[in-house]
Amino acid sequence: MKGTMKAQVFYEPFVMKYEEVRIPTLRADQVLIRVRACGICGSDNAYYRGKSPLETPTGKGPLILGHEFSGEIAELGDIPKEQGLFKVGDRVTVNPVQYCGACEHCLRGLTNLCEFGGGRGASSDGAFAEYAVSKYQNLWKIPDDLAFPQASMAEPLACGTYGVMNMNVNLGDTAAVIGPGPIGSMMVRMIKAMGASKVYLIGTRDYRLHAGQKFGADVLMNTKAKDSPYYVEDVVAKVAELTGGKMLDRVITATANAEAMQQALEISGKASRVVFFGLPGEGDEVRVPALRSIFSDKTIRFSWLAPTSWPTATKALFSGMLDPALLITHHFPLKDLVHALDFVQERRDNVIKAVIEP
Ligand SMILES: [Zn+2]
Ligand SMILES: [Zn+2]
Repeated sequence: MKGTMKAQVFYEPFVMKYEEVRIPTLRADQVLIRVRACGICGSDNAYYRGKSPLETPTGKGPLILGHEFSGEIAELGDIPKEQGLFKVGDRVTVNPVQYCGACEHCLRGLTNLCEFGGGRGASSDGAFAEYAVSKYQNLWKIPDDLAFPQASMAEPLACGTYGVMNMNVNLGDTAAVIGPGPIGSMMVRMIKAMGASKVYLIGTRDYRLHAGQKFGADVLMNTKAKDSPYYVEDVVAKVAELTGGKMLDRVITATANAEAMQQALEISGKASRVVFFGLPGEGDEVRVPALRSIFSDKTIRFSWLAPTSWPTATKALFSGMLDPALLITHHFPLKDLVHALDFVQERRDNVIKAVIEP
């Protein structure tokens, strides 16, 4: 498609410009998407604030951020056109990890480790724009009754679902999610669906704990706000008390706070499984109590992106089993992206998930 579009172009930390740029041209295996919704992720704020480098060769911009998006197909490249699986106007959500499909990792199904692909909004232009491109192999058609903002939650849900799949929840297990953000709340729903008997949700803000409660959390703990009815001064002691000293079977961290990783090791019990999911800072380290962990026959697992979980996540989302509407608290137009990033960063107005709608 010829012509120009509005886009938010990120140049360097705290320099984002709302510009008129050329509509991207398509390779044979790509489609052009008219962006209808693009969620703001914690990583977008990390890039914008210079806390984490981009995945471009130089680690720098200019780049259009935004990787949690949905929209309508506006144009097809030659291959999808010939193949006939998609047509202009189809409503889709996108897996932004545009893996090559041919390297040794991709051939093993570990597309999250592909070194030849790259992420939309991290190493190539993303969706804080009127149009974005995607490989046709990375599209999921969405049901007619699923709104675009909800559909844009497919990507964070797929990542969270992969984390939950890595927990190997057994029927009746007790579990904890540390970090009641949008992904943490969706994890609670998936962990419950996988048969956990009780899910603990641990965080620092009551309004987020309440959202997680609506997704099925049984026990809420606030580790920071002393005036909270859920305030717990010593989480380890409280978990020990509530579990009769057994501690928990499954624990996942869904926060950037590295202390959560330490805490996860302390509140997990015998034969437990701990999954580290939330992205800590670059220099952060975790100390593992070595002997005690061995005596507990404990498993520690790391979880990155969503190589195998898109089918499960989209089934949950498209069937209505998991409705993320409650988590989408704020909507902003494309021109207000910088304001929206600040808004989310400062957790204003009890924001949980903010979505840009170009
Ligand atoms: Zn994200
Ligand atoms: Zn690959």
